[in-house]
Amino acid sequence: MQKVVVIGSGPAAYTAALYVAEHKPLLFEGDYDAEIGPGGQLTTTTDVDNYPGYPNGTKGPELMDAMRDQAEEAGVRMVTRSVIKLEKIGDTFQLKTKEQTYEARAIILATGAAAKRLYVPGTREGEYWQKGISACAVCDGFAFKDKRVAIIGGGDSAMEEALYMSKIASRVFLIHRRPGFRARQDKLEQLKGTENIEVLLPYQLESAHGNDRLTHIRMINSDTSEPRDLEVEGLFFAIGHVPNVGFLDGLLEQENGYVKTKPDMGTSVNGIFACGDVQDYRFRQAVTAASSGCMAALSCVKYLSKLD
Ligand code: NDP
Repeated sequence: MQKVVVIGSGPAAYTAALYVAEHKPLLFEGDYDAEIGPGGQLTTTTDVDNYPGYPNGTKGPELMDAMRDQAEEAGVRMVTRSVIKLEKIGDTFQLKTKEQTYEARAIILATGAAAKRLYVPGTREGEYWQKGISACAVCDGFAFKDKRVAIIGGGDSAMEEALYMSKIASRVFLIHRRPGFRARQDKLEQLKGTENIEVLLPYQLESAHGNDRLTHIRMINSDTSEPRDLEVEGLFFAIGHVPNVGFLDGLLEQENGYVKTKPDMGTSVNGIFACGDVQDYRFRQAVTAASSGCMAALSCVKYLSKLD
């Protein structure tokens, strides 16, 4: 019987683990072959310039490595497996990976969120998904050196991916469905000042086409409904995220699809605390994830002390 199990491996998970280290938590960091492997979304990002303590910025993967090292140093035991089922059995919890079953008295859930995809003709598996289409430019962009690529989205991820690809691809088209952007103004200005980036507004993706790989996409003008074809060999979705809650099978109450939490990060099930992007659809920053991990852990420690 584990005292506490942390599920996840982003900033929320590692921070939570650090704050419950006295209870020697087991941390399930995810399978390497999962859609997002250990380290979570920050491992698929480049520059992080707004995490406190790094005046010259840092890189997402480096930040996650540092957090993981610190947690491990504090005695957290890492399991490189994804939890595929979580159930409440009496006053305790049962967790399953593909290979094994575990039991725990308390759970800290920090499974984060995964990139959303657009499902239109041509974008699915067996069509041009991973044959030119991806939801992570930072992971897959290197294959598009000196090629024409498009990024879809109007938030910070889209800006970041477009700027990243502008250093690799010959031409980058940023496609957004409306004239207004959610992205930070400074990033938007930087993007507009980048010579090989062209912003196409207001367009929605209609379909993707090619031969064995993607060769072009068809867009529809959101105002006029006029179609427009664009030759690109790469297409990246940067349209937001969905929380990783599938394995919970409805165990926890949700709000907008995200796990609903109380101010102390408790969930609808006593003994399960949630933190980070799995429960946050508003802020979704590394630092807010880390701080919610701290809050969840402190509440969990209090919960455990009442059980003893
Ligand atoms: P956002 O939710 O901020 O933006 C998603 C974008 O995708 C929106 O512009 C939205 O359009 C568009 N979109 C959504 N669905 C569709 C669709 N079906 N078809 C076409 N377009 C669609 O997500 P992000 O991933 O960009 O950012 C998430 C959070 O992470 C934010 O809080 C952001 O600040 C943060 N972040 C921070 C970074 C940093 O600080 N370095 C880097 C990256 C992200 P519309 O605007 O019309 O709704």
